[in-house]
Amino acid sequence: MKNFNYDVIVVGSGAGGAMAAYTLTKAGHKVLMLEAGRDYDPKTETPMFQTNGQAPLMGSSTVDKDFGFYDATVDGGWTVPNEPYTTGENSEFLWWRARMLGGRTNHWGRFSLRFSEHDFKGKTRDGLGADWPFDYPDLAPWYDKTETLVGVCGTNTGLDDMPDSAEGVLHTPPTPRVPELLVAAAAKKLGIATAPMHRAILTRPIDDRQACFWATKCGKGCSIGAAFQTTTSLLPMAKATGNLKIITDAMVRSVDVDNSGKVNAVTYVDKKTGNDITLDAKVIILAASACETARLLLNSKSKHHPAGLANSSGQVGRNITDSTGANLSAHIPALEGRPIYNEDGHTSNHLFVPWWGHKQQAKGELDFPRGYHFEISSGFHEPGASVAGNLQGYGKQLKDEVKKHFGARIAFSLRGEMLPNKDCYMEIDDQVTDKWGIPVAKFHWKWSKHELNQVTHGLKTAKALLETMGATLDKPLPSAEQAILKGGQIIHEVGTTRMGDSAKDSVTNQYGQTWDCPNVFIMDAGVFASNPHKNCTLTIMTLAMRNATWLGEQLDASTGPIAAWES
Ligand SMILES: Cc1cc2nc3c(=O)[nH]c(=O)nc-3n(C[C@H](O)[C@H](O)[C@H](O)COP(=O)(O)OP(=O)(O)OC[C@H]3O[C@@H](n4cnc5c(N)ncnc54)[C@H](O)[C@@H]3O)c2cc1C
Ligand code: SF4
Repeated sequence: MKNFNYDVIVVGSGAGGAMAAYTLTKAGHKVLMLEAGRDYDPKTETPMFQTNGQAPLMGSSTVDKDFGFYDATVDGGWTVPNEPYTTGENSEFLWWRARMLGGRTNHWGRFSLRFSEHDFKGKTRDGLGADWPFDYPDLAPWYDKTETLVGVCGTNTGLDDMPDSAEGVLHTPPTPRVPELLVAAAAKKLGIATAPMHRAILTRPIDDRQACFWATKCGKGCSIGAAFQTTTSLLPMAKATGNLKIITDAMVRSVDVDNSGKVNAVTYVDKKTGNDITLDAKVIILAASACETARLLLNSKSKHHPAGLANSSGQVGRNITDSTGANLSAHIPALEGRPIYNEDGHTSNHLFVPWWGHKQQAKGELDFPRGYHFEISSGFHEPGASVAGNLQGYGKQLKDEVKKHFGARIAFSLRGEMLPNKDCYMEIDDQVTDKWGIPVAKFHWKWSKHELNQVTHGLKTAKALLETMGATLDKPLPSAEQAILKGGQIIHEVGTTRMGDSAKDSVTNQYGQTWDCPNVFIMDAGVFASNPHKNCTLTIMTLAMRNATWLGEQLDASTGPIAAWES
């Protein structure tokens, strides 16, 4: 690229790519970022101050706005125009993509829970899946640095599923809402702890990012920078170093090799012109999201890499997992007719229910190996089209009923750990291409008994919590098969290029460096060796910061794998 002599190309501007670019540019390295989506500036484009009453259908979801009229995904969702994907026979899989600068960080839930020592060593405990090639203490200082930079509110709890942050790192969390206190009391009766949810929301200002003012739904985007998204934090900070250039509308088609099989370039489609452009590359970081990165590697076949780039292990596209998901809600009579006041807070759950069953699992008392947590929906929120629920009637009587029921429903959303299995994988569909002729991803999916037993347990626990609060469930519990959400639906897809100790059964080493191509790194959730029930993005960013720091040191060094490769 003319006038910009970059050291590293980063593909993708979401959680992983932006953190990698921030880390490298701060360390003085020049980075060129390629992003398939369009440019996006939350400061001017976010509809955060608009209300449901101003929107068609009171802001409800539509085919082109899956999460409601004001959702911050400007281009993307469960379907992306011109970019299909396919599923295998009897497989259901949903894939959420956001084609915009900042990727899915513009509207993610911002739940940011650390993985714990249990999470990194699952296989050692129960023999299933894979261990990570390091332990929790190796990552703990990087979690502290990431939480400090990103800004996470929460509290140290001392619970075995929630490792503490260093003193002073976490921002003060908002106080629990009345219905959440009711959940906490019910959970206590059942011997289960609740805790403040950790969210990437500022409750004190950092730099020019403001503190949350507790009013607008974070999924619309946050133009004041209180809710973390790369477009109001890492990307502007990296640009301010003078070391970052971003090309948007640049859909990377392939990572290319020279005659000896060494990676030396990337080719992208300029979506505005449809032209292919090839750029020389010394070092490439792929952070296009777990499944896009795997797709890119599988599509980058050559005579030296016939099964796709970095795929001598055959593991690219394998080991894909999502979080398990299931929902249960009920009307709580004790919450009826409360005086209505502003309970918005940071507009998501202030309390949640962390996993409490490690000890029971260790004793073999549960019939599923991995844990889950409950996210809680409750309280008074800005009314939308569904404010009346199933209530019927007319006039004042209906209005009074709606008012009486408003804020009296509590919902539990289960998020659990899934284990990789041989029936869940992605590959390239050789029959279908996207608008630019790039072969698309094809997903295969089947839940195993581990996930179904876990969901059964979760539904029973949620029912017990609701009944302890005085609810009467109007229907029998669904079966786990009926209740479990589809693969991909929780949008925590990970593991497609997993890291490990050996080139035989993993794609990268512990720093995200591919075993086969020392100048190709992966810094998205593809590298996860397992998918703990805690939402994945804090760990994507933490690994990207740690691994990009390591890469920066290699670039500075005159010896080491990168220097050896360059010579
Ligand atoms: C509604 C919603 C709620 C969520 N809630 C949470 C939550 O509470 N907590 C949590 O931890 N996670 C949550 N997630 C998941 C979270 O958003 C993702 O884990 C995270 O954004 C992934 O980061 P990433 O960098 O890997 O990918 P992304 O953020 O998806 O970014 C990848 C970027 O790469 C670009 N790209 C893709 N292919 C190419 C290509 N070939 N060439 C160039 N660019 C390319 C994309 O356009 C995109 O901008 C949520 C997601 C959604 C959608
Ligand atoms: S609730 Fe707070 S963090 Fe969320 S969008 Fe509004 S100001 Fe930003």
